[in-house]
Amino acid sequence: MLTLLTRRCTSAGAIVTELFDLLGAGAVGTSPEDLAAHAHDWFPVALLRDRRGEPGQGPSAVVRPPDAAAVSTLLEWAQETGTPVVPFGGGSSVVRGIEPSGAVVIDLERLNAISEVDEKSRLVTAGAGVTGPELRAHLAERGYLLGHEPQSIDISTVGGWLATRACGQLSARYGGIEDLVAGLEAVLPGGRVVRTKTAPRRSTGPDLAGLMIGSEGALGIVTEATLRVSPLPTERADLCVRFEHMTEGVKACRLLAQSDLAPTMVRLYDPEDATLFLRNHPDEPPGPLLLTSFDGTDGVTRRDRAAGLMDGTTGPAALVAHWWEHRNDAVEEFRKVMAGEGPLGPHGIVDTIEVAGTWSVLRDLYHSLKDALSEVAMVVGCHLSHVYPDGACLYFTMGSTCESDEQAEEVDARWWAVAMRTTLDSGGTISHHHGIGRARAGWIEEELGEWFEVLRQIKKAIDPKGIMNPGVMGL
Ligand SMILES: Cc1cc2nc3c(=O)[nH]c(=O)nc-3n(C[C@H](O)[C@H](O)[C@H](O)COP(=O)(O)OP(=O)(O)OC[C@H]3O[C@@H](n4cnc5c(N)ncnc54)[C@H](O)[C@@H]3O)c2cc1C
Repeated sequence: MLTLLTRRCTSAGAIVTELFDLLGAGAVGTSPEDLAAHAHDWFPVALLRDRRGEPGQGPSAVVRPPDAAAVSTLLEWAQETGTPVVPFGGGSSVVRGIEPSGAVVIDLERLNAISEVDEKSRLVTAGAGVTGPELRAHLAERGYLLGHEPQSIDISTVGGWLATRACGQLSARYGGIEDLVAGLEAVLPGGRVVRTKTAPRRSTGPDLAGLMIGSEGALGIVTEATLRVSPLPTERADLCVRFEHMTEGVKACRLLAQSDLAPTMVRLYDPEDATLFLRNHPDEPPGPLLLTSFDGTDGVTRRDRAAGLMDGTTGPAALVAHWWEHRNDAVEEFRKVMAGEGPLGPHGIVDTIEVAGTWSVLRDLYHSLKDALSEVAMVVGCHLSHVYPDGACLYFTMGSTCESDEQAEEVDARWWAVAMRTTLDSGGTISHHHGIGRARAGWIEEELGEWFEVLRQIKKAIDPKGIMNPGVMGL
């Protein structure tokens, strides 16, 4: 352990000099390109400010520690000197999770080791900086998949998934990232390295590893995770069903989620979202449109049983294949719109807000949000996805053309205010999988109630100097 006196680094120059001494010049980036690439995440307003050349204050330095020991050294130094630090995975957060404002960014890209698959226990251990494509390729070569497939898989990392409590498109079968973690290693402010024993389940007090899952860099840095993997499915049966009204589609999703049919993915698009999603498809049927798939050798039987549960008209299964092929196209399209190159013109803005609710509140939650957002956005589409026996996620996409970037910022702020207020008033939860970041920080206290004060106390106990990603989650 370092023996540092309590002191404060007062300038960016002093910080960089100390980081050179700690980790060597090769681990510290200060070039304008490096600082700019770590100045923000994919929050639309950050992209909008970027496109008009006003990205805001980036980090004072970008550090790339080679291993967990170096992360420990860094966090000991950061605590001793009171230097704020911001962990960085792929930078794909969409909720202002990364907004360094002069802090030191810790990019975890060098923590990129992946173990062999433990085939007996079906586990793999991956460093926090392992990217989605790296892990997917490693597992596929060995006949496995993780089953966590967020739309942003190409631009995100293992550490980021855990830190945001992310959820992928195949969650109906494989669960959210929290269901796939069998053990993890993390470094806390001050440099303490904590590691959970890998185990299928335990009754050893509260879930301490769970404190790190969804902590958004506010409590420490996840350096490694042991994850559950499944054999790659070899067969898939697809089903497309059209409904007259969303109510029938929502009921179909509920029956599916509460059945023993184990779909791999379930998505119900409302008419506007179906139009958005299928705009490039020649045979676009009107929504509401349900797309679902069943993996396994008995997939066809389960698919046919599912069709029997639903009060709709069967559509072309080719649309489901279209979804599988194009399911991540939105990443590039979103980037284009926010660069001013898309159909919304030079000042267009697009944002997405996902919330969740039990089946008892979901119908009202959908209509309240749809109506409220339609008053403040030109286009509002919604799909229901990530189904559970007790409820589901509603994922809204809003788009507007604006006369200026300043107006676009105001429009976006209105979307967030309207969506958060309406969700809380309708008995929903304010985030299903993107997390809180700073975009939702104004509503987290109301969402958590008395637990928010407990969270604040936990933050104080683990991070007494408040150096970890200050401001994220309202902490
Ligand atoms: C087009 C698009 C589609 C998306 N689709 C999905 C989706 O389907 N499902 C979904 O869940 N999300 C989705 N997201 C959001 C985003 O990709 C996820 O939140 C993802 O998990 C973030 O991973 P990352 O590696 O990019 O993390 P980053 O963006 O780098 O970081 C996210 C937060 O976690 C912290 N952090 C990062 N790494 C660590 C670490 N090792 N230890 C501690 N804290 C850390 C950061 O400080 C930050 O607060 C999407 C984003 C975009 C742009």
